[in-house]
Amino acid sequence: MSATRVLVLNSGSSSLKYQLLDMRDSSRLASGLVERIGERSSRLRHTPLATGGGTREQSVPIADHDAALKAVAEELAKDGLGLDSPGLAAVGHRVVHGGKHFTRPTVIDDAVLAEIERLIPVAPLHNPANLTGIRTATALRPDLPQVAVFDTAFHTTMPEAAARYAIDVETADAHRVRRYGFHGTSHAYVSRATAKLLGKAPEEVNVIVLHLGNGASASAVEKGRCVDTSMGLTPLEGLVMGTRSGDADPAVIFHLARVGGMSIDEIDALLNKKSGLVGLCGDNDMREIQRRIDEGDDQAKLAFDIYIHRLKKYIGAYYAVLGRVDAVAFTAGVGENAAPVRAAAVAGLDSLGLAVDDELNAVRGDEARLISPADARVAVAVVPTDEELEIATQTYALVKR
Ligand code: ADP
Repeated sequence: MSATRVLVLNSGSSSLKYQLLDMRDSSRLASGLVERIGERSSRLRHTPLATGGGTREQSVPIADHDAALKAVAEELAKDGLGLDSPGLAAVGHRVVHGGKHFTRPTVIDDAVLAEIERLIPVAPLHNPANLTGIRTATALRPDLPQVAVFDTAFHTTMPEAAARYAIDVETADAHRVRRYGFHGTSHAYVSRATAKLLGKAPEEVNVIVLHLGNGASASAVEKGRCVDTSMGLTPLEGLVMGTRSGDADPAVIFHLARVGGMSIDEIDALLNKKSGLVGLCGDNDMREIQRRIDEGDDQAKLAFDIYIHRLKKYIGAYYAVLGRVDAVAFTAGVGENAAPVRAAAVAGLDSLGLAVDDELNAVRGDEARLISPADARVAVAVVPTDEELEIATQTYALVKR
């Protein structure tokens, strides 16, 4: 029997998300999450999808990622899907920052590990956690291919005109300051799925992808290649997000330091964790914001309006970057679920050929679907993202024999 299963790992600083997929039919065999690693109240939630069993939950102290992955392996083994099983072809790791160097998924060796490590200064929160996940999985199964799938890779096709900030070239290059973009796995998957929904090949269409989750980013995808995206050196740039400010005059930082007396770390925390929707109205969940708006809450309404204003600006900007747009695709938690966000984002853009049909927009579902009127010049679509499937697909493509 050939090995057809791929374990996808997404390691955060105190969490480990995973899915096990069978690439013969892309079916999901198991999924789960270990949270609060390193705390006394760690929690493991495992859903054995292959057997149809219910979710199993354990609250036990899990000291580190090594212990977390061992606990996951034990859960998988209960259904005959352990890490030692011959059916496992590879482990696919989500790696947030691949810099300029990694333009595609890569089988991990010592040189790759060293390069991911070298990128820590530009991804101090994410790359160390991703490295821990890789080292832990390698220690458990040294013989198995470990593949890194980078959040930045899809955006490496951006032309210099889009990727460079207009700051002194020498300084920028010395510190690797440029726009890298993130959520690339999602933008790649969704742009391709949108082309498929239109009955076209990715090379035949131009798509604006709006990935609106807790983190949010937009991308302009020309004939299957990313030509611009809203996140930059870090995931802070661009759209208004759950807790991140997105675009702001860089001088806000000097001002808060000089006049507000704040330290760089305090400003970093302010812009990354206490801004965006949560900073504007106290809530970062769009469901809660909508509920408050329905009750007449002005603060929630203003937060929503600022969110939409920024989103609309990016749709306009990427329309101009692409020149011709075939589709605008909404994805991730907000994009897939919040019909009022989709309606407001394209409201008044009829002259660009953009509109939503209210009835179609109100339909809920897990499938990719069009929400624009039948005669629309530009398709507007809801396209559920699936980053795990994309990571597994890219991983398997590299290792299958
Ligand atoms: P991430 O992966 O960035 O953590 P998700 O893509 O899962 O985020 O999106 C999470 C967000 O999606 C929530 O914070 C919430 O704002 C939004 N969301 C989820 N479900 C709904 C819904 N039914 N209606 C409106 N917004 C929703």
